[in-house]
Amino acid sequence: PALFAPERRNSRGWDLAHAPDLAAIEAARAPHRAARFEAAPLIAGTAAPETAQAVLNPADPADIVGHVRPASTGDVDTALAAARPWDAPAAARAAILRRAADLYEDHFGAIFAIVAREAGKTLPDAVGELREAVDFLRYYAAQAETLDTPPRGVFACISPWNFPLAIFTGQVTAALAAGNAVLAKPAEQTPLIAHYATRLLHEAGVPRDALQLLPGDGATVGARLTADPRVNGVAFTGATETARIIARAMADHMAPGTPLIAETGGLNAMVVDSTALPEQAVRDVVTSAFQSAGQRCSALRCLYVQEDIAEGFLKMLTGAMAELRLGDPWDLSTDIGPLIEAAALRDFTAHVAQARTDGRLLWQAPAPATGHFLSPALIRVDGIAALEREIFGPVLHVATFRAEHLDRVIDAINARGYGLTFGLHSRIDDRVQHIAERLAVGNAYVNRNQIGAVVGCQPFGGEGLSGTGPKAGGANYLPRFTARPAPKIAG
Ligand code: GLU
Repeated sequence: PALFAPERRNSRGWDLAHAPDLAAIEAARAPHRAARFEAAPLIAGTAAPETAQAVLNPADPADIVGHVRPASTGDVDTALAAARPWDAPAAARAAILRRAADLYEDHFGAIFAIVAREAGKTLPDAVGELREAVDFLRYYAAQAETLDTPPRGVFACISPWNFPLAIFTGQVTAALAAGNAVLAKPAEQTPLIAHYATRLLHEAGVPRDALQLLPGDGATVGARLTADPRVNGVAFTGATETARIIARAMADHMAPGTPLIAETGGLNAMVVDSTALPEQAVRDVVTSAFQSAGQRCSALRCLYVQEDIAEGFLKMLTGAMAELRLGDPWDLSTDIGPLIEAAALRDFTAHVAQARTDGRLLWQAPAPATGHFLSPALIRVDGIAALEREIFGPVLHVATFRAEHLDRVIDAINARGYGLTFGLHSRIDDRVQHIAERLAVGNAYVNRNQIGAVVGCQPFGGEGLSGTGPKAGGANYLPRFTARPAPKIAG
C-alpha cells in the first residue's frame, strides 16, 4: 500500500517527447561530453591512493571517461575501522536522503553523461536509471520514518554495472535509511558514477563515516569485505555464482544468521499464445529482449510462441529487429548501445556463431566495427531446457509450443530453478490465472513488456536461483536491514 506520502510520488523524470525537456537535457549534458571524471576510495579521514587506471567508454575505447584509484585490502581494513552507524533520528536521516534525491535530480546533466559514457546507457535508459535511483531514495526515506527498529551495524553493499546508479543507490540508501554504516563496493566497470553519487550523498549530509566508497575488483575488495566479522550484513546484486562465493565466505567468517540480500541471474521466459495482439506482443518482445542491449537480469531470454501463429509472428519480429539502430548511446537515434566490455562481446559472439554453425540462427544484422557492439540475434531452440546459461546480452532464443502442451512449457521454465521475471501475452483470463498459479517467479507481467519494475509499484526480485528476496522497492526490503529488538521478558 501507499508508502509515499500523498505529496510525494515517483519521480516525474524527463519526457523525451517534450521539446523543453529534451532541450534542457542537451544543454545540461553537453559540458560533460568530453569531461574526465574521477573515482577513488572515500574513506573517513584518509587520502586517496596514488595509482590510477583509465575508465574507457564501451562504445568508443578512444574516449577516456575518467580515472579510478582502486582500493587496496588495506583500505578496506581502514574503512572497516572507521565505519560508524548513522545514529541520527530516523526523521533526520529521511530528510537528508530526500535532500540527496533532490541533488541527484539537480545534477541530471552530469549523471546522464556519465552513465552514457561509462555504462553505455541510451538516453531513455539513463532517464530510467536516474528516476529509479531517486525513487529508491524517497521510498526508503518515507519507510524509515515508520520503522522503529535499530540498525544491524555495518553493511557491505556490492552493486552491478548494469544499473550503476539505480541499484547502487537502492542498496546503499536502504542500509543508510535503516541507520547502518555502509561500505559500498561498486562494480569495477562503473566506479565513476558511484563516486559521483557518493559525493552527492555526502553533500546532502550523510556522514562520511556512515558511507564509505571502496572502488575495486571483487577478488580484492569484495573478497575482503565479505570475509570480515565486523560486517553485519551484505546486499549483493550480480551473478548467481558470485552470490554462492559470497555466501560461503560469510558462512566461514561472519556470525551465523548474518543476512545476505542477493538479487542474481535469471533465465526469463515469455509465452505468446494465439490470442495475443501480434503488434503489441512484438513490440514488448523487442523491449524485453533488446532494450539496454539485453543487459538486465529481468530481460527476456526464451520466447515461446504458439505454433499456429509462429511463422507470421517471427516474420514480424525479425522485421522489427531489423529496424533497431545500434550505435553511440549518446545519440538520440540509438536504440541499442554497446555491451559493457570486450570479454562479453567475445563470449556472446561465440554463442551466436555456434548457433549459426548448427543452423539455428534465425536472424542477425551486422554490428558497428568499433566499440563492444553485438547486433541483436534470434536463435531457434526446442525449449528453455536447451539454454546452457544466461547470455547477458541482446540474444533471444525462441521455441514454439502447442496449446495443449502449455503446462509442459510452464513446468520446463520452473524446472530451470531460476525465478525472476516472466511475460505472458494472452487474452484468455482463465489461462492467465492458471499460469500465474503454476509458475514460480518473482515478477510476472501480462500483456506488456517484462522489464523496468517501478519502485513502490512493482517490488522487484526473484526466487530460487534468482535471489534471496525480499524484493527491492517493496515494503519488506528495509526491515531486512534492521535488527529486531530482543523481546522484553517480564519479571
Ligand atoms: N529492476 C530491473 C528491471 O526491472 C532489472 C534489475 C537488474 O537487471 O538487476 O528491469
